[in-house]
Amino acid sequence: DGVIWFDGELVPWRDARVHVLTHTLHYGMGVFEGVRAYETDAGASIFRLQDHTRRLFRSAKIMNIPMPYNADELNEAQRLVVRENNLRHAYLRPMVFYGSEGMGLRAENLTTHVIVASWEWPSYMSPEALEKGIKVNTSSYTRHHVNISMCKAKANGNYINSMLALQEAVRNGCDEALLLDPEGYVAEGSGENFFIVRDGTIYTPELTSCLDGITRDTVIELARECGYRVVEKRITRDEVYIADEAFFTGTAAEVVPISELDGRAIGSGRRGPITGRLQSLYFEVVHGRSAA
Ligand code: PLP
Repeated sequence: DGVIWFDGELVPWRDARVHVLTHTLHYGMGVFEGVRAYETDAGASIFRLQDHTRRLFRSAKIMNIPMPYNADELNEAQRLVVRENNLRHAYLRPMVFYGSEGMGLRAENLTTHVIVASWEWPSYMSPEALEKGIKVNTSSYTRHHVNISMCKAKANGNYINSMLALQEAVRNGCDEALLLDPEGYVAEGSGENFFIVRDGTIYTPELTSCLDGITRDTVIELARECGYRVVEKRITRDEVYIADEAFFTGTAAEVVPISELDGRAIGSGRRGPITGRLQSLYFEVVHGRSAA
């Protein structure tokens, strides 16, 4: 039910369809965002909307996909979809894809289509996961090739590795995967950025092999405001095993503690105090309450 913004029009959910020869369906060249609206005292508010839209445009530029709308139009489209669907806690999915005018890898003379869908989605992680933490395994899939060069883009084709990694983790009895880069340093989760805490200092991989996460950025800012030292550096798998705390960040996952990696408990094996503090601050900020 509800409506989807489709090339400038609000279309009923069931009518927002594409042809089987849609170019992006075949070759995976498209870009998207994952955005979230939270209920605040002033109604539903889209968290860091402008930053998500900016990243969508950057992703399109990296992929050389012409954008038929400007940032203001897409910001307005996202607000409109949340409003028209009367959403309160919502996930938004803007997506940019090529039409069905032709096949072939040149991708010339194709129309670019843009949709914004949104639905009520209170939480991606269970309350238990947010409190107790999740089990993670180091993936046999790496962030490589297209993933590395294109990791600044949230591009459709980039998620093949993430999906295989997550499915492998679930088969291994875990909740999430930790992907390494081709040199063996920690990159990120299937759809989350990664952090560890050791001796009171917070470490996160540099932006060489992971997405420039907006939640990552928010959490770094919150941590620095609290007086923690945050260091962006290469992290090895061993460093994670002996960390005091570890957590993932993402629009969907929010701030989620990691209780174990590859069967080794991280720290106490429960949500650590710094993770807990950053998690509560994050929830205050997204709900529009002061973080101080
Ligand atoms: N890394 C990947 C591969 C992702 O897909 C996401 C999700 O958007 C993130 C990290 C976290 O980014 P953000 O905090 O902007 O949602």
